[in-house]
Amino acid sequence: MGEATTPEAAWKALDQDLADYLEKKGLKPSCRAGCFACCFGWVTLSRLEAEALLPHLTPAQKARLLEEGPRRLALLRQGKDDPLFPSRFFQGRTPCPLLEGGLCGVYPQRPLACRGLLTAGDPALCLPEARAPKGHFLPVPWRMARLRMEALWEEEKKRYGFLLLGELASLLYLLLQGLPEGREAVEATLEALGVLGGRWGYQLG
Ligand code: SF4
Repeated sequence: MGEATTPEAAWKALDQDLADYLEKKGLKPSCRAGCFACCFGWVTLSRLEAEALLPHLTPAQKARLLEEGPRRLALLRQGKDDPLFPSRFFQGRTPCPLLEGGLCGVYPQRPLACRGLLTAGDPALCLPEARAPKGHFLPVPWRMARLRMEALWEEEKKRYGFLLLGELASLLYLLLQGLPEGREAVEATLEALGVLGGRWGYQLG
């Protein structure tokens, strides 16, 4: 695996990793345009990825994030220690605010977490009520995405002196509002919002 220390390079590199792997294994993902069950999920990404996405947002996408961000922060405040939180959120079928007419509205800039979630199985098993059986989502593509994420996390630590991981819509919302400079100030902001730490809350590394 080569170096990919910007989100744009990591996205491209992962797409190539996935294409090579799927071809080698003769796997054909059943993921298709218009199939968006995974977009009901709780997606986590790093600040660097979120910042790379920000300049591509349309005014309508920003408006939806400004509405949805506070709602997700409130859910997280209540549920960040609940072991079943992501599953409850998924069951709630709240679509990602970047989903537009059943299609990802930021497809070229979608996070590594979205790119790495693939299945070659029955798409009906991706739906929240189906409770996908073990192995439904291809494990190797997910691990490939995770490795690309980890490389970006190291880059973020070098650039900012710390790593910030959080949920997609709420992190974009916080960045749109403007995060303060420095780890201590970011930590204080997240503490005040009640969304830092716990099992599913924002993480600083
Ligand atoms: S960023 Fe795109 S692919 Fe990812 S959850 Fe949102 S709409 Fe779906």
